[in-house]
Amino acid sequence: MANVNRKWRLAARPAGKVKASDFEWREEPIPALAEGQILIRNVYLSIDPTYRLWMNKGESYMPPVGIGEVMRGGAVGVVEQSRNPGFERGEIVMGLLGWQDYAVDDGTGVSKIPKGMPIPLTAYLGVLGGNGLAAYFGLLDIGKPKAGETLVVSAAAGAVGSLAGQIGKIKGCRVVGVAGSEEKCRWVKEELGFDAAIDYKTESVAEGLQRCCPNGIDVYFDNVGGEILDAALGQLNLRARVVLCGMISQYNEENPVTRLTNFSNILFKRARIEGFIVLDYLDRVMEAMTDLGTWLFGGKLKYRVDVVEGLENAPRAVNKLFDGSNQGKLVVRISAEPSA
Ligand code: NDP
Repeated sequence: MANVNRKWRLAARPAGKVKASDFEWREEPIPALAEGQILIRNVYLSIDPTYRLWMNKGESYMPPVGIGEVMRGGAVGVVEQSRNPGFERGEIVMGLLGWQDYAVDDGTGVSKIPKGMPIPLTAYLGVLGGNGLAAYFGLLDIGKPKAGETLVVSAAAGAVGSLAGQIGKIKGCRVVGVAGSEEKCRWVKEELGFDAAIDYKTESVAEGLQRCCPNGIDVYFDNVGGEILDAALGQLNLRARVVLCGMISQYNEENPVTRLTNFSNILFKRARIEGFIVLDYLDRVMEAMTDLGTWLFGGKLKYRVDVVEGLENAPRAVNKLFDGSNQGKLVVRISAEPSA
């Protein structure tokens, strides 16, 4: 093991899309462990839209990453050294391990991943990670879909949206996705079983929703905000539920302005709009894992993973989420998977 820990430190608060110059590439020695600590070699770094919020100055639901700090990020890794009796070399863990080759932890910031399971490591960052939990609790706890209702999901071919739509199908809903290409629309319909899909880059979303939701919208699971949210608000049914999971259309904006011309429909339709953060549900993780695991192994949940090679490409990878070029759950491969 070379004594080098490559890492990205945040160098500037980005304006608009992130640039490589917003980060500083550093090669530092791997720290020696103190008693109680473990050294983790990061294998896959999750790339999430929320990172863009963490780079901003203001606090969102977590403090911003400080200038000069290693960029925060979720990752799966393998324990390379342990001076903690609770961990052995070779164990697989996940946590906020940062944009770097190696992370040091005292064991409280990581969770163990069972070894020998027929589950790819990347799944723990997606379908069985924060994306799966967001889709599960956001849809079921806040959206409360009932069989026969119409569910609309934005960023429908993405990591969270694709799962929210499939869970909606499992619960008996008519599911309509909004996505940014013909290929993504075809994938959610033909592979995931959505009933219809709207390509917002080639069709007005308001018109698409009229076409695909002749009985209106009962649950809207929003990953995007802005104009797509407004179009969905315009076609809500009585007592509809709007789940605010994310607002990716706003994250790169310095002064986000969302003009919601249809917001009064929340009043007229006695609808409910509610945001959530997946961290709110940490005490109920097992409940979600049981269902998500059952559906996954039963072939009812499908997903795809988009792997970008190399830690050096992490800043560039973030922008894939914003231009829509990611095909499913986006991760960066930092190092080789441990052999089974
Ligand atoms: P995705 O895999 O869905 O990737 C992001 C997708 O968003 C892109 O592929 C793109 O798809 C779409 N997109 C980007 N910019 C725009 C835009 N301006 N208008 C419309 N669509 C756009 O990412 P995730 O599944 O990781 O995240 C989806 C959302 O869920 C994000 O808003 C994220 O912040 C949120 N989230 C919230 C959590 C919570 O706890 N509340 C937890 C996890 C995620 P396309 O090609 O279709 O445009």
